[in-house]
Amino acid sequence: MVVVPSRLIDASAPVYGYGEVRATDNDLLSQHDGVPMGEQIIVHGRVTDSWGRPARDMLVEIWQANAAGKYVHDHDRTPKPIDPHFTGAGRTLTNANGEYQFKTIKPGAYPWTQHREAWRAQHLHFCLNGRGLSERLVTQMLFPGDPLIDRDPIVSTIPDEKARERLISRLDWEAAIDQIAIAYRFDIVLGGINATPMER
Ligand code: FE
Repeated sequence: MVVVPSRLIDASAPVYGYGEVRATDNDLLSQHDGVPMGEQIIVHGRVTDSWGRPARDMLVEIWQANAAGKYVHDHDRTPKPIDPHFTGAGRTLTNANGEYQFKTIKPGAYPWTQHREAWRAQHLHFCLNGRGLSERLVTQMLFPGDPLIDRDPIVSTIPDEKARERLISRLDWEAAIDQIAIAYRFDIVLGGINATPMER
């Protein structure tokens, strides 16, 4: 079964229904008959509370554009190709140590249509839900060294530079799969002075 989110736009999480999370739901590369276009990557990290304790059994959902910067959604009218082998949504549960992992492709940047000369940096949307949270939390992961981060209209709404930096993942050689995929680590802190910025 292919996970088909009903919404794939900024600030809206995909809707999966209430089926059980399967172990393969975190592999966005194998949801179709063929392999999606683009650079294959591992995205992983740890979710902790404001005290640094692991947030276990947390539902982590991601959604993203394909390698061309195109979403599988009617709202995305940009003239770019849909990848028939890539939906761009996945989910998983954190383990007892608060850790999660996804296999996916690096999303393309895409233009911000609300004003001229603005582009979104390459990003993954994250949604977290679980015990101890009164509402689901939504954030975005950026990629280190992306020159578009400084011009990104969403990132620039966060006034604190340190907070903005908490959205940037880091290259993680230890988690890479040699000759196949490089890895990015994105740790998420739920609250406290080092909290990962969340969308309202
Ligand atoms: Fe987006």
